Amino acid sequence: MAERMAAAFVGHGSPMNALERNRYTIAWAELGASIPRPRAVLAISAHWYGGVTAVTAMDTPRVIHDFVGFPEELFAFDYPAPGSPQLAADVADLLAPVDVALDGASWGLDHGTWSVLAQVFPAADVPVVQLSLDATKAFADHVALGAALSPLREEGIFVVASGNVVHNLGLIDWGAAGTGFDWAQRFDDAARDLVLHSPDEAAGLAHHRDFALASGSSPDHFLPFLYFAGLASAGPGTVSTVTEGTIMGSLSMASYRLDG
Ligand code: ZN
Repeated sequence: MAERMAAAFVGHGSPMNALERNRYTIAWAELGASIPRPRAVLAISAHWYGGVTAVTAMDTPRVIHDFVGFPEELFAFDYPAPGSPQLAADVADLLAPVDVALDGASWGLDHGTWSVLAQVFPAADVPVVQLSLDATKAFADHVALGAALSPLREEGIFVVASGNVVHNLGLIDWGAAGTGFDWAQRFDDAARDLVLHSPDEAAGLAHHRDFALASGSSPDHFLPFLYFAGLASAGPGTVSTVTEGTIMGSLSMASYRLDG
């Protein structure tokens, strides 16, 4: 049997991280270099957030430039990784009885996935499947879905959840490049404490006094963290910190990995 694959949660921040070299993207590249080449990647991105659970099931997922106001070179960026209809079918089986839609055309790879994988696996030669976030599900359900994905680790599949533990764009402070508001730091610390020591309780972060500020207008960037917490709670393995730090007041760049 193949060695059990690591899994990760990556705080992706700006899509410019696809192109930039900074302390976060260097750590993402080191993460990729530190694990065996996976058979495929299952990416759970904050940016595929809707009313169903779906997986991309096409042979060649398109690259979606789902943002405005960024430089032309970012719109020209390509990440031509193949898809994996087989992995899509396997994910649907693992998540039963939840009904998982096999998406053959509508989605692809959004920037929550490719801005991270551009650094983790820059050659874009590992097949990638994306899993959507069903906004109608309870937080505990997202943790359970993450736990249900755990057997993929035995099959050489690298599961990477991509969001931000603290993500409130409405309160971004452009003058606070390397620091976060007190509430952002508090919530980030609470999330770290839970994922390191009791990931099965991660859904309880919804009751944290700073949760509303930490997620702003939508929990879309928080939900991928719950999938990673689910994977960690299913075990085996140990969670460790890849990067930490709150920036621009209301954004957390915390990332974690699960090994062993
Ligand atoms: Zn994002």
